[in-house]
Amino acid sequence: MPFKCLIIIMMMNNTYTKEYALELLNAKGDALDELYRKADEIRKRFMGDEVFIRGIVEFSNICANNCLYCGIRASNRNVKRYMMSMDEILMIAKKMEKSYQTTIVLQSGEVKGKYDEQIGQLIRRIKKETSLAVTLSVGNRPYDTYKYWKECGMDRYFLRFETSDRALFSKLHPDCSLDERIQCLINLKSLGVQTGSGFMIGLPGETVETLAENILLCRKLDLDMIGIGPFIPHPDTPLGNEKNAYEDDKEMFFKAVSVLRIFNPDSHIPATTAFDAVFPKIGRNLVLQRGANIFMPNNTPKKYREDYLLYPNKPGVDETPEESLDAAIKRILSLGRTIGTGPGHSIKKH
Ligand code: SAM
Repeated sequence: MPFKCLIIIMMMNNTYTKEYALELLNAKGDALDELYRKADEIRKRFMGDEVFIRGIVEFSNICANNCLYCGIRASNRNVKRYMMSMDEILMIAKKMEKSYQTTIVLQSGEVKGKYDEQIGQLIRRIKKETSLAVTLSVGNRPYDTYKYWKECGMDRYFLRFETSDRALFSKLHPDCSLDERIQCLINLKSLGVQTGSGFMIGLPGETVETLAENILLCRKLDLDMIGIGPFIPHPDTPLGNEKNAYEDDKEMFFKAVSVLRIFNPDSHIPATTAFDAVFPKIGRNLVLQRGANIFMPNNTPKKYREDYLLYPNKPGVDETPEESLDAAIKRILSLGRTIGTGPGHSIKKH
């Protein structure tokens, strides 16, 4: 039977259940090999062999929020705060355009309202002066702000729901609720913005059941992009002495990616940097071989990198943007994959 027919039958039979997710997440031995093989096959069928390179610019670490896990949380006095100028960001965007990077991902801490207008002007200028697609990742905002940014030319927005466990979410986020976060994602989708979300793997207090629910929530939200990565305790945060819930079973990090791919065949899934922090130099390669199809080299100037440590041992802190891009290209090609051309927009038909 053709593979696509099989997928359609799986969908009609409501195969995407919590039980099925749990069965896959608990795979061992041959079943685990089969899980990775199947995820890679689905990635290839739906997304092809191209790996799109999206350049991330961490343009500000100023944050008003106090998420309990995050290294740049407002209360961390050990962080030297910075905000890059518009000209500095535009210069980077223009450099990116000359390389294989067709999307600029602008990420920062969360400061409600204060810089919204400035961010809008930045989007307008990038869209006017380059051919790049623009992804923004700056946290929860009201509908009208997202609408304004969309009018400025924003193509995509990335906002993780972090965990689907409502009680755990509240414990970790003094500044917002899970419902508010989900509403932001619904608003973005209603505006026609390509929408990405995701979660951390192994937050203290979560179980494999939570992980299954997280994957199901991604599917329910019908996301264009899904970014997930292991939680890594940062010493200057209230969770500094906690452990990742899968500290003794790190294979779970990769299983999560593969199950995510099986449940979301046509979403873009990046191989996130945190995997390299846990498995230096090979983490992201393995993720690309187990379901992912996007790579996001860091384009933040070297002088700011030490100040954007969401978690310790963040890879690439000593690299220049050119070195980060070169390394990314070598890794992708070493896996027998090709570099994505064009903007790499969502392939979903909502
Ligand atoms: N402020 C924006 C937001 O909240 O969406 C974007 C920046 S935020 C720092 C980016 C992501 O970093 C978060 O969504 C979170 O999942 C991740 N992150 C923060 N602290 C982390 C940690 N200790 N370990 C792993 N990931 C972490």
